[in-house]
Amino acid sequence: EYKDLSMERMMEIRKRNCSPMTMKVTYYKSPVFLHQGYMQWLWGVNGQRYLDFFGGIATVSVGHCHPKVKAAAQRQMERLWHTTQIYVLSPIHEYCEKLAACFPDPLKVIYLTNSGSEANDLAMLMARLHTGNFDIITLRGSYHGGSPQSLGLTSNSDYKYPIAAGFGCHTTMCPDVFRGPWGGRHCRDSAVQAARDCSCAPGCCQANDMYIEQLKEVLKTSVPNQIAGFFAEPIQGIIKKLEHLQNSVLTTSKQFFCELFNICVQVQTGFGRTGSDMWGFAAHDVIPDIVTLAKGIANGFPMGAVVTTPEVAHSFAKGLHFNTFGGNPVGCAIASAVLDTIEEDGTQQNCANVGTYLLTELAKLRDKFEIIGDVRGKGLQIGVEMVKNKGSREPLPAAEMNQIFEDCKDMGLLIGKGGVYGQTFRIKPPMCITKEDADFALSVFSHAIQSHMEKK
Ligand code: PMP
Repeated sequence: EYKDLSMERMMEIRKRNCSPMTMKVTYYKSPVFLHQGYMQWLWGVNGQRYLDFFGGIATVSVGHCHPKVKAAAQRQMERLWHTTQIYVLSPIHEYCEKLAACFPDPLKVIYLTNSGSEANDLAMLMARLHTGNFDIITLRGSYHGGSPQSLGLTSNSDYKYPIAAGFGCHTTMCPDVFRGPWGGRHCRDSAVQAARDCSCAPGCCQANDMYIEQLKEVLKTSVPNQIAGFFAEPIQGIIKKLEHLQNSVLTTSKQFFCELFNICVQVQTGFGRTGSDMWGFAAHDVIPDIVTLAKGIANGFPMGAVVTTPEVAHSFAKGLHFNTFGGNPVGCAIASAVLDTIEEDGTQQNCANVGTYLLTELAKLRDKFEIIGDVRGKGLQIGVEMVKNKGSREPLPAAEMNQIFEDCKDMGLLIGKGGVYGQTFRIKPPMCITKEDADFALSVFSHAIQSHMEKK
């Protein structure tokens, strides 16, 4: 029988043998030592139970150790783990056909990778080869990976190193009508509204024009007419600001996405998580030329994919692309079972039902508590932005964020946090959570905030 190391031993090893970064990211002041998971639940080494509302950052899609996925993994483990891509194996072809069937035409060609960063690296290369151009535009605040190439797309100083990276990568403002310069507090300011002859709140039509203007400004700083691609998360995983634009003005969102560029990517918002669609991009009413997938693709098993058109694939075929582990049969069997499970368990519908309920109830908490500035998201991809007060919208200080975060954990609820100022709580649970789980999470969250306010 397997026995976990003691907590002390793990901390010792962490200090001595794990990367210093691992040491930094215990996430909690008093770390969570996990032993086991089942569906939306996790158990600590001392038997404490947690409701998991973070899902390994949207990675556990259908539930920890989901029985159907586990059975598929075991079946394939007993048959064959690995060959290289030079042989022809059924699980890989079954998966490629199944995944391609989930995409609209002409997105029908699949490349399998081992991670999201790798998928985005590949997408960059493809975009550049296909267009013959080099420059790429991303949105400020985005996260596209930590590999040397994808780090150039990522636009968040927390992840940056003092080395030359991101040649040809430019960033433009992410439309943010809560914290950004347009559409948010400024548009709610009556003097500004009068000056602009504008009365639309919370999303402001003129704000969209302003963000598009910014995009055009950025184009003026890159090589003229030589953009290889535009990389964007349909809902930013870290701060999810794009959601605002989408909710308030869908058509401009479409304009923002496709008027000028031809490429768009995602990692977290797929597999039905947004509730309304299988893929996050669909809500923006665009069909990108390249879509990258990872995170929930194999319920936590390392895997990624690039989905593209035959034309882009043709341009990419100029060289020989090879990947030892990408598309291994175990990953494919697991990822196949994930797609089956999403269909059989009604996962997308569950995201719509429970996600909408959660968003509605969180919005009530926002109205009740001065320090909840904004609640946004779609389905089970939700952000709760914390502020000092609604008037100033200044980010809630880290110490206060951490206390609420820690208290939720101590009451048995795991959530995430992020954002450029670390001001946003992130909710992206395994997609099997129920309304009762949502009620539990809401009462824990509400209690943590209430007692925080009382202590102040
Ligand atoms: N893009 C997005 C939107 C992500 O959330 C992540 C992972 N946090 C990545 C890319 C990189 O994926 P990976 O960690 O698998 O390399």
